[in-house]
Parts: sequence; C-alpha cells; structure tokens
Amino acid sequence: MASRIVILPGDGIGPEISAAARELLDRLGPFQLEERMVGGTSIDAHGTALTGEVLDSCRNSDAVLLAAVGGPKWDAAVAADPAAPRPEQGLLGLRKGLGLFANLRPVRPSRALLDASPLKRDRIEGTDLLVVRELTGGIYFGDSGRDGDSAHDDCAYTVGEIERIARVGFRSARRGVTSVDKANVLETSRLWRETVSRVHEEEFAGVALDHLLVDNAAMQLVSRPTRFDVILTENLFGDILSDEAAMLTGSLGMLPSASIGASGPGLFEPVHGSAPDIAGTGRANPLAMFGSVALMLRHGLGMESAAAGVESAIDRALEDGLRTADLGGEATTEDATRAVLANL
Ligand code: NAD
Repeated sequence: MASRIVILPGDGIGPEISAAARELLDRLGPFQLEERMVGGTSIDAHGTALTGEVLDSCRNSDAVLLAAVGGPKWDAAVAADPAAPRPEQGLLGLRKGLGLFANLRPVRPSRALLDASPLKRDRIEGTDLLVVRELTGGIYFGDSGRDGDSAHDDCAYTVGEIERIARVGFRSARRGVTSVDKANVLETSRLWRETVSRVHEEEFAGVALDHLLVDNAAMQLVSRPTRFDVILTENLFGDILSDEAAMLTGSLGMLPSASIGASGPGLFEPVHGSAPDIAGTGRANPLAMFGSVALMLRHGLGMESAAAGVESAIDRALEDGLRTADLGGEATTEDATRAVLANL
C-alpha cells in the first residue's frame, strides 16, 4: 500500500513550495497525496485555522507535510479584534492533536554555501548537529495572565515529559548528547538535568552526555558549532537556540524540521514562515521544503535511502551553482525544482 501523505500548503509562499514538493514526491512515489487547508486559508473558508475534519484526515495519514501559515491580512484582523482566529492556531492544533512533543531540526550547512553564512568558513565547516526541542511543555503552555501592571508566564515540566524527550535525543545521537538547561537558576531545569542524567544512566549509558547552561550553549553555538551532535533542550531554550543555529546555514530558506510523537504520523515542515513579501513572485526557495520531504521520508516513512537521495540532490544542485534570491542568486522556484530533480 502506498503511504498516505496529507499536504497542507497553508498561506503566502506555501502553495508555491508545496507544488514543488509534489513534483519531487511524484518522482519518488507512488504515494497517496491529499491536499487540505490550514492557517489563514482555512480561516477564510471555515472561520477556523484547523477544522476537525482536516485534523482527522491528518490523524489517519502516515505523515503530514506542511508549508507555512500566516500573513499580514490575518495579523490585521487580530489587531482589530484580539479574539479573531489566528493562523498559528492551526499549527498548535496539529501539534496538540497529533501529540507531537519532539521537534527535530538538523543543521548541516551545505559545502557549497559555507561562504553564505554570517560566520567564517573555518568556524562552521564540519557542522552537523540536530536540535531536539521539547514542544508541548514549559513556559509556552503554562498558566499565564495579567493583574494590573504585572504579568506572569509559568514554566512547569513533569518527569514523564522530560523522560520521553530525553529518549528521542539519545536515540538520535551519533556522537553524543549535550543537554541544555539553566540549572543554576531554575527549578524546572534542575528537574530536567536530574531526569536526563537518570535516563542516560539507566537506558543509554553508551552514549556520551554533557550538560551546558543555556547562556554558554548560545555562545558555543557560534564559537564552536562543530562540537555539537544532539542538542537536547526544553521548549523556550530550544525555540531560541534553533533559530540561532539556523543562521549557521546562511539562510532560513534552507532549514527543514520534523515534529514527532510517541506513535502516529509526524509533521514535517520548513522552519521559515509564509514569506508574504515574496508570495506570488515565483522566487521562493523550495529547498527547506525539499529538506522537509527528506525528513518525512526518513523519520515518518522509514525510507532512509530515498531521504539521503533527496539530500544529496539538494547538495549537488547547490554545488552546480543553484542560488535562489535569498542566497544572492536569481534562480526561481521552478529553476530550483528542475535543478534538484535533475540531480535525483
Ligand atoms: P518568514 O520566515 O516568512 O520571512 C522572513 C524573511 O525570509 C522574509 O524576507 C522572507 O521573504 C524570507 N524567506 C523566508 N522563507 C523563504 C524562502 N523559502 N525563500 C526565500 N525567502 C524566504 O518570517 P516572517 O516575515 O517573520 O513571517 C511572515 C509570516 O509567516 C507571519 O505571518 C508569521 O506569523 C508566519 N510564520 C509562520 C511560520 C510557520 O508557518 N511555521 C513560522 C514563522 C513565521
């Protein structure tokens, strides 16, 4: 049976890079592809960023491939009425509805793009790391509120939440795991460190483990990125560190991500947003979307050799000189798609 993939193009450049991804999938298939609405497009059609029907369809799939959501139109609606539906609610609804507690972001600058990074080539050459971020706990999901001129956002973690993400981190390690926390200040971080150490001792003693404070980790990510293999961290720190790590590659248009749960379909998507400033111009870089297809093949469908094939086709196209506008070139989405397909 061909795997069932739900494609959620979303907003802005989403439909353009999704069409490119379909061309890639058609070459790798057969797959059963089903396209559905999410984000602002779904708000316009149904008044909500994610309908129950679309969520059910995702639940019944083997993997979900999402492009991006959001745009100024819906931002303006929320500015006028804070209770108006927001495109991002579609993403949160998917994460929650599919039980996606782990976010994986590989950062491996392509050799051809080493000079596009804001960091010097000799600093980043050889970087090949994976940020494993806890996605459904911590300060983003704690109680929050305002009382007069004060506001609060509570951060909470349970042992169970830390154990399950720690296992994802250890299983993903090739050279070792660096667990990042703020254990010198935060109680949740002390629980994090204790729990990660125990899971390591009991289940993954053969994997190297070290602990770093988040401020030190932020510094080392730019001073010595090659020292890292897996960076395992909680939701807020992971949000910030993964965007910092993203800059090592030189462009947000290059980075894919995977979100997975204990079982069931994972969600695979580029890290970048819907780029409304270039939507409809045919200039979107589809490579992060193609990288997301590779992660879907690897982590969602167990098709490792097809995943590696897509990644090396991307690398070879870049080595042949492919550069979209965000990389300082003139190639269109269409040119980039042709170049990658030609190297597949
Ligand atoms: P963005 O990532 O959309 O764009 C930032 C800059 O990078 C823009 O100049 C854009 O043109 C460029 N860019 C991004 N992806 C590109 C690509 N594939 N090819 C070429 N250039 C690319 O971030 P933003 O401008 O802060 O946000 C725009 C909208 O996207 C907002 O509504 C925001 O809420 C939403 N957003 C969605 C997601 C998501 O769907 N996961 C993530 C971030 C932002």
